[in-house]
Amino acid sequence: MFRVTQFMQELVNPTPLGPADPLSPLATYGTGVPLAGAAESLTLQRHYESGVPLAGAAESLTLQRHYESGVPLAGAKRAPLGPVVIWNLVRRCNLTCKHCYSISADKDFAGELSSAEVFRVMDDLKAFQVPVLILSGGEPLLRPDIFDIGRRAKAMGFYVGLSSNGTLVNAENVAAIAATGFDYVGISLDGLAATHDRFRRKEGAFAAALNGVRLCRDAGAKVGIRFTLTQDNADDFPALLALTESEGIHKFYLSHLNYAGRGNKNRKDDAHHRTTRAALDRLFERCLQQVQAAQLGGNNEREYVTGNNDADGAYLLRWASERFPEQAEHIRRKLVQWGGNASGVNIANIDNLGVVHPDTMWWNYPLGNVRERPFSEIWNDLSDPLMAGLKTSPRPVTGRCASCAHLALCNGNTRVRAWQTTGDFWAEDPGCYLTDEEIRFVAPASSQLAGRDAGATTSPAGAET
Ligand code: SF4
Repeated sequence: MFRVTQFMQELVNPTPLGPADPLSPLATYGTGVPLAGAAESLTLQRHYESGVPLAGAAESLTLQRHYESGVPLAGAKRAPLGPVVIWNLVRRCNLTCKHCYSISADKDFAGELSSAEVFRVMDDLKAFQVPVLILSGGEPLLRPDIFDIGRRAKAMGFYVGLSSNGTLVNAENVAAIAATGFDYVGISLDGLAATHDRFRRKEGAFAAALNGVRLCRDAGAKVGIRFTLTQDNADDFPALLALTESEGIHKFYLSHLNYAGRGNKNRKDDAHHRTTRAALDRLFERCLQQVQAAQLGGNNEREYVTGNNDADGAYLLRWASERFPEQAEHIRRKLVQWGGNASGVNIANIDNLGVVHPDTMWWNYPLGNVRERPFSEIWNDLSDPLMAGLKTSPRPVTGRCASCAHLALCNGNTRVRAWQTTGDFWAEDPGCYLTDEEIRFVAPASSQLAGRDAGATTSPAGAET
């Protein structure tokens, strides 16, 4: 996930880079030699970026500082943290959306994890220092034990998100949603009524989902809208942004189309590059306006994020360099600290049958089953060539990505699109909408940076919801 708001705040009110910087991918790439311990430290860094205080974080910061010295200290305690886990607890869904990565349908799927099995896996995830669980589906509200799972996860100290199509939220269950204490509820709206219903292939889906958004908001939940941009719904994007504001919604998430499941089958609908650029320009401008208004004392509780296209970071750098050239190098360093695509490193997926994947979009790429091996063991097994490559810094990408000036801040973007279109994990991502000239672009340096970037850090990352 790319937290646009955080970077706009950096433009308006820069903060020091802090201790993670020496272990950023830039430091690793700069030498051409992977640093000892760099992967673990990068994991740690991203957990700090989430803004969620984690159990064990202080201990891990100590570890990080040991690595920063360049010399692993005797007695330095290794405490690598686990990834954010997106968990598709149930595949059944009352909708059959055109871009559904899990190819869900309104029927039962045999062999799904029982409540007891889910609880056992949660214990393993906790021991592995997984910080965040995003409970998803199918439609997670179709799982009868969803609130038991949510409550237990909260009691165990996870940050817990609920990712829903929103149509099944009603006056009867919204109190339970609020009482479970989900840290975030994400609901999909892919356009205004006609467009959304066509996407979701169900008349009335928009009205039901918007009703779900309002119920959750009014019940006190932090709720966000997720909009998947395609060529077919781009015209509705400005209206969706306006709706988010007029409804007082906490978060707007622009997701790019990824080529998985029905999203792959319908990839011809993907937004043209110029459409994507226009949407990002609009999103950046809107977000900046709100951040600047907040500086003047306005209300700025809304957050803007994007997902499934890490070239957004490079595009933001280009955009920011034109408007705030004095901040360009600072933003570039912050973007490198963010680090781009995290599939297989800081983002993981468990499906309804207990199969582990590098992220949700690798639904048809199994790494192992939690019924047979602990998640922690599956996740650390580098015998799988995809996982080995995803965890390598820099990743062994080819084509435009290999020679791109932004590789350290994009991390080669979404490997699923490359794989689905070429059969090669490491080919260039066809979803990259930067021009050949732009991927050679390097932001101008600023002489003001050295002193300012020497202190402590906070910046964002987080999970896909
Ligand atoms: S060329 Fe590849 S590495 Fe560079 S911005 Fe595009 S997707 Fe990212």
